[in-house]
Amino acid sequence: MSSGNPLPILGQSTSGISIAAEHLGPVPRITSLLIKPASAVCNLDCSYCFYLDRDADPYKELPARRMTADTLERLVDTYLFYSYPNATFAFQGGEPTLAGLDFFTKLVELQKQYGRSGHNVANALQTNAVLLDDNWAQLFREYNWLLGVSLDGPEEINDAYRFNKAQHGTYKQVMRAIEALQKRKVDFNILCVLSQANVEKPRELYKFYKSIGVDNVQFIPLAEFNPDGSRMPFTITAEQYGKFLVEMFDLWWPDRRKMRIRFFDNIAEALAGMKPGSCTMHETCDSYVVVEYNGDIYPCDFFVEGGWKLGNITMDSWGEIARRARRYSFAQKKTLSHPECVVCDYQSICHGGCPKFRHGPHGRFEDLDYFCQAYKMIYKRAVGPLQKEVQRLLGRPATELTRQALSPY
Ligand code: SF4
Ligand code: SF4
Repeated sequence: MSSGNPLPILGQSTSGISIAAEHLGPVPRITSLLIKPASAVCNLDCSYCFYLDRDADPYKELPARRMTADTLERLVDTYLFYSYPNATFAFQGGEPTLAGLDFFTKLVELQKQYGRSGHNVANALQTNAVLLDDNWAQLFREYNWLLGVSLDGPEEINDAYRFNKAQHGTYKQVMRAIEALQKRKVDFNILCVLSQANVEKPRELYKFYKSIGVDNVQFIPLAEFNPDGSRMPFTITAEQYGKFLVEMFDLWWPDRRKMRIRFFDNIAEALAGMKPGSCTMHETCDSYVVVEYNGDIYPCDFFVEGGWKLGNITMDSWGEIARRARRYSFAQKKTLSHPECVVCDYQSICHGGCPKFRHGPHGRFEDLDYFCQAYKMIYKRAVGPLQKEVQRLLGRPATELTRQALSPY
């Protein structure tokens, strides 16, 4: 798309305009689910958490939020039918392990019961890890789950913001869980939130993760704002994030065959002509949906808000949910191009970043992604070497960067 010809607002968005789904072109499939079996409820009290006291959370006032056995069964039965031959169930919270080990054992039984021959079913879970022990590790190992474990660095860094409800740091509990996972050889990566506690310390972080035997890390930049648009104290700046990524890239480059860092992998995937693993680098926001504890469906975890609800699995089929005009309306928010994106050399791999970060300080989807400066810094540093690496590995030139129409709709 061009900035001079913005797309109309599609669907039943806040504009109130409604367009029938049959006028919206091919239906993008729902290729994975992000399931919140305990909604946004958590057993920790991390001071930077996006979910705590979130006014827009439609379930905030409901004290007991757990997915029931009936909802779980309907979810597995219907999604396996819709998604054949590939289904991905990813669990997140709040803290999803609050649903209990029996819940996840039942999930696997249902997947066996309703899966068909030749069905590839993948399970993943993002956790703060404090409830994990050997029994959990056994289940994850037996069924090849992929785990994401939150750990922001060594003890003094992690415990700067990651507290339990008694306001004690969580580092020691998380390290015990990591040992249990390593003992059982469970596949896991680390999720490291970049805050003011660690964004200036890439070397220390890199050394630390290697020292505890971690070989797969994702860095999540923190950008939370006060109602007046000012940065919250732990929020990092785009320049800090950019410097962090560039230094991390230089640390990682000699180890690139031994260590995975998600953002750098995603850039390489884009340059190899593949769809990157992170939705932030997709053209539109429609690759997955969120399933709340009661079966309600939303297009993105950052937008679990009444205005974006797409339906409920007890009343709607997956085909109907996929075709909802509101889903198109959300998906195309990412294609609202800012004038800087239109002339940007990295547009064809960045696609304008993440609407959550555009929506940041002022709550406007049309704004430039808050971290744009950081993206430009890392793309400038990383694209050249990664293009050469991709060419060497694939035996053909990497994808050239182009400026293109952003919207596939
Ligand atoms: S808003 Fe951001 S996190 Fe949500 S689907 Fe879009 S790119 Fe992904
Ligand atoms: S790097 Fe910045 S200007 Fe370029 S496409 Fe991404 S958000 Fe837009």
